[in-house]
Amino acid sequence: MAEQDNRAGAAPPILVVLPDGQEVTGRLHGRRQTPQGWWYRVGVPAWRNTPSGGVEASEYPVWVKAPDMVKPVDGAAYDAVPTQRMEPPTAVEQILGPRRPSGWILQKTGGRRGPAQPVIHAPDCDEAPDGGQVLGLEAALTAAERAGVRLCALCGAAQELDRLLGTGQRDDSASAP
Ligand SMILES: [Zn+2]
Repeated sequence: MAEQDNRAGAAPPILVVLPDGQEVTGRLHGRRQTPQGWWYRVGVPAWRNTPSGGVEASEYPVWVKAPDMVKPVDGAAYDAVPTQRMEPPTAVEQILGPRRPSGWILQKTGGRRGPAQPVIHAPDCDEAPDGGQVLGLEAALTAAERAGVRLCALCGAAQELDRLLGTGQRDDSASAP
């Protein structure tokens, strides 16, 4: 006699903690594991205007950090929520991983031998500039999503960041068929 939402594909309810401390019941649409922890894709209840000038119930989709910004709802089942775990490290990462410093280096354009477009490197890349701006993972992902920013293929920045971004999200990725 469990009170479950049996609609196919229905996202289970979850409490979302807003920045001001309010808690609202949203829906959990997905989870993604990153080296910095888990991010949950939630839909927060909202309204939207209809073409006819009315309003209707809607959802505002947003990625939030777990567990800081979410709380489970008693009785809700989260087993079926799409969940993207970190892949096990590749052979290259297993070799480079232990000695690689954390973070990413943003190589700006211009300068004496600067590139024509900004490039993101791993910190141990031979091509990374000494005075480059050091980014955390979130800043690097944000920068990587901007059009015109290149990910260095030499040091594995492209491989690692593209994997976290998911395929096909970058403007300059291979053109869709
Ligand atoms: Zn590089």
